[in-house]
Amino acid sequence: MTATRILVLNSGSSSVKYQLLDMRDDARLAVGLVERIGEETSRLKHTPLTEGGRAREQNRAIADHDEALKAVAEELARDGLGLDSPELAAIGHRVVHGGQLFTQPTVIDGAVLGEVERLIPVAPLHNPANLTGIRTAMSLRPDLPQVAVFDTAFHTTMPESAARYAIDVATADEHRIRRYGFHGTSHAYVSRRTAELLGRRPEEVNVIVLHLGNGASASAVRGGVCVDTSMGLTPLEGLVMGTRSGDVDPAVIFHLMRVGKMSADEIDVLLNKKSGLTGLCGDNDMREIRRRIDEGDEAARLAFEIYVHRLKKYIGAYYAVLGRVDAVAFTAGVGENAAPVREAAVAGLQELGLAVDGELNAVRSDEPRIVSPEHARVAVAVVPTDEELEIARQTYALVANRAGEHHD
Ligand code: AMP
Repeated sequence: MTATRILVLNSGSSSVKYQLLDMRDDARLAVGLVERIGEETSRLKHTPLTEGGRAREQNRAIADHDEALKAVAEELARDGLGLDSPELAAIGHRVVHGGQLFTQPTVIDGAVLGEVERLIPVAPLHNPANLTGIRTAMSLRPDLPQVAVFDTAFHTTMPESAARYAIDVATADEHRIRRYGFHGTSHAYVSRRTAELLGRRPEEVNVIVLHLGNGASASAVRGGVCVDTSMGLTPLEGLVMGTRSGDVDPAVIFHLMRVGKMSADEIDVLLNKKSGLTGLCGDNDMREIRRRIDEGDEAARLAFEIYVHRLKKYIGAYYAVLGRVDAVAFTAGVGENAAPVREAAVAGLQELGLAVDGELNAVRSDEPRIVSPEHARVAVAVVPTDEELEIARQTYALVANRAGEHHD
């Protein structure tokens, strides 16, 4: 196959992030983003990574995703990387919610678009934006394979015992209420990369992956297969996050409705946007929280302790789910950078074979690395995630396979 480039698109409600990769050597050729789409102050930042390339910015009103993608296409063309290039093999789209149906990356056609649309009620913020990005990309290159890579796909292997909530089955089924999980592309990539770091095959190792970014989720991965994850019907369940509460007693919601006289929409905003670290101390950035703790700030200290307490509970829970754990892998903004979070999350768990080495844990690096003491029973690893590379790989594998089939 001569076409070896993949464009990865991650379309949010008011932003588009993109990367162009060459799959011969996983090299990034260009990266960029368009933000504040639909506002007067939109911004396009494009960085060619080819030799001599320099970052370029456009600050002007960009009305919609159509205009945004056309602007991206023009920027790419200026670097000789245009969407009309015969070297472009496919466009890979991040799609947040694939429900139970999509267990694998999927070439997008009318039926797939219809299914992703049908899932909007369970992903009202994400799926419409993903769809807009896909439709726009399809209109720019209707002949090119467009592939959907779903955030939920890696979690579709969860057994029913982990995926079902203990609520009336008929009601749950009618409204497709179950635990789907998210960040799946990251959990898949990091669990596999952790096995590599241990010098073993993914099938041989059990890993607890802690994806701690602004959104945060944990997963239990047995032999490369996800058996449990902390996010549920939506990304609200589980760990304490930047602005999301994670687990709360569902009765909190009735209480706020009945006693607090709040509407469902107001509670939605409260739990998704005004809770988590932001709700607890006013800051969602772990760097700022650590700085405040160093200055003796009590609210920041308590927010940190609540965050770590929840994390430790999930480590214990997934340890029990897996029975044997070979590695605990920290990833994403907080997991990769915040040594104090890693240290506190495993503090006191020596009996479970879990500990960090103070010196190794303090090292800053972009490389995957082990931060537990030598000969520890369980490896504690820091494994930078790369969702774009994973989307590109899955997209390329799918189209390369199809091309192979067509030639036979
Ligand atoms: P992500 O969603 O993976 O981009 O992660 C974003 C979050 O990572 C930020 O909100 C910060 O809380 C956290 N973060 C990024 N850099 C650092 C750092 N150097 N130290 C601690 N936390 C960090």
